[in-house]
Amino acid sequence: MNTSTQFASPLDPSQALINEICPAGEPWVKAIKRGQTFRIVDLEGNQAVDTLFYNAHDALERYSATDTISRQKKLYLTAGSELYSNFGNVMLTITADTCGRHDTLGGACAAESNTVRYALEKFPMHSCRDNFLHALAHDPLCQQLGMSKRDLPSNINFFMNVPVTESGGLEFADGVSAPGKYVEMRAEMDVVVLISNCPQLNNPCNAYNPTPIRLLIWD
Ligand SMILES: [Zn+2]
Repeated sequence: MNTSTQFASPLDPSQALINEICPAGEPWVKAIKRGQTFRIVDLEGNQAVDTLFYNAHDALERYSATDTISRQKKLYLTAGSELYSNFGNVMLTITADTCGRHDTLGGACAAESNTVRYALEKFPMHSCRDNFLHALAHDPLCQQLGMSKRDLPSNINFFMNVPVTESGGLEFADGVSAPGKYVEMRAEMDVVVLISNCPQLNNPCNAYNPTPIRLLIWD
């Protein structure tokens, strides 16, 4: 597994317009303008950050895993990856990445998948799908765009390690991230980002210990 390719960013956090913490297990929504740079910092390491992007003017255009994977002919994301929409437009370009690899396939955890994968008693546990649905229903930016639970496509899992086996299987493996690793991307259109800072406790995607992340935006 090659995770050694790393690209650091020259941007100074003290100059950022937005510099916020999203606590472990919580959602986070923000508008990012075309040309702005967005950074997600894995503060304590091995934290899966489930992320969706929407066109800030028309939420029917949104991040598309299939377009992104087929255009770059590669399953993982890192510096240089372009994040494509379902309309075939580049939404963001990853410009820096000190982790080296991010997942496009694992999807978001949900009460339903937790019961199927782990145990019936896991049903009440908080999940990324809960975070997404709550934000879609209650966040002012999502409300402005008229979004609802219909607007939930497949998400990116930043910092999450989902290796694909030789036979095409998926595994949820120990993370490849570490405290302070970050991924940074330039918005190529006005977007709304919707994050679930994953609360999953049943697999190693968060090292069984969900932790906070830092979100920064620069002009
Ligand atoms: Zn999750």
